[in-house]
Amino acid sequence: MYKKDFPFFENSSVTYLDNAATTQKPKEVINKVVDYYTHFCSNTHRSNHGDANKATKEFEATRETLKTFINATYTKEIIFTKGVSECLNMLASTFAKEFKTIIISSLEHHSNITPWHMQGRSLHKGLEVVNVKQNLEFDFEHFEELLKANPNSFVSITHVSNAFGVTHDIKEIARLTHKYDSYLLVDAAQSLAHFKVDVQDLDVDFYAMSSHKTFGPTGVGALYVKKELLEKLPVYQTGGATINDVSFERSIMLDAPYKYEAGTQNIAGVIGFKKALDYLNNITLKKVHEVENELYYYLHNELKKIEDIVLYNNTKNAIGSKSFNIKNINSEDIGILLDKMHIAVRAGHHCAQPIMKKLNIDGTIRVSIAFYNTKEDIDIFIKGLKKAIMMLK
Ligand code: PLP
Repeated sequence: MYKKDFPFFENSSVTYLDNAATTQKPKEVINKVVDYYTHFCSNTHRSNHGDANKATKEFEATRETLKTFINATYTKEIIFTKGVSECLNMLASTFAKEFKTIIISSLEHHSNITPWHMQGRSLHKGLEVVNVKQNLEFDFEHFEELLKANPNSFVSITHVSNAFGVTHDIKEIARLTHKYDSYLLVDAAQSLAHFKVDVQDLDVDFYAMSSHKTFGPTGVGALYVKKELLEKLPVYQTGGATINDVSFERSIMLDAPYKYEAGTQNIAGVIGFKKALDYLNNITLKKVHEVENELYYYLHNELKKIEDIVLYNNTKNAIGSKSFNIKNINSEDIGILLDKMHIAVRAGHHCAQPIMKKLNIDGTIRVSIAFYNTKEDIDIFIKGLKKAIMMLK
């Protein structure tokens, strides 16, 4: 039903089930990117001619739309970046750097692990990791123990696991984080496209978002920063468009959010991102969640019927990604055969090697769905999977 809105599906025969890696783009997004380069390609926040003013206006309109999309209080709480990885690196190099302890979960993407290692931290040396329980659920008791032992920490946790689709109860994580005078950054790479997010209700301090995981262009992300913390957030990079006044003696920065957006931004990408958010607003995230939930249960039940399958979590609290293995078959071999059948999934460690090591596996096959997928896509995948298993046994 929704595939007709996405030119990729008109031009490709692939059954696309790799949405956690990146999502397809609706035609409004593609058209807007082309429109910018074709009709008003100019820099933002600098020149004062018609096209430049239009580019600035549309760029700022994305900030306004995103603010409403996540129910932030002020537009200045939205800082554009290159993606979630840049948001995490930015905070690791600035605000979070001074904290004695960083607390992460066991289900983090490498983007929320390596920036902490780059600071010279490692497990139990400035970096603590919350355990997972059976079914990969977050261990709240262990989390509270860590916070008790390390009050005034910086907690950095993913909203939804890219490798397994497990969703963390961020509201409860925020409550505990603040109880122990700590700050919370949430990695929203795998949540924004799947359900309604309300940063005020969740009470997060920082929320890191990615356009390309949310049906928008690549190379664009945004960091939500709670207003009170903007005063405490040092600038990450400086340069053109971040400065109010410069002499050889000193630089006076602009106010937030501009002082955090150094150099020419990905203007086409940011402007295109608004169209993705408008598209989602139109169909509503409630509908997106409903459609995906049904597909997720259907996929889970079909997978359960397969002999020798190993599933790592149940459907409770999971969305988007579903990971599994087939006993005695390498996940990447299955991925290669599925590719030959024009079925796109991801096989391997999914940039989450530490949890794979914890589970004592090299990787998994990950099917990741979006609302435009259908039961027919799942049927094609299951048929292909059965064929691949037959060939590899
Ligand atoms: N965090 C998670 C959970 C992800 O799934 C990804 C991408 O796969 C990232 C971070 C990195 O996001 P980006 O590509 O926007 O830098």
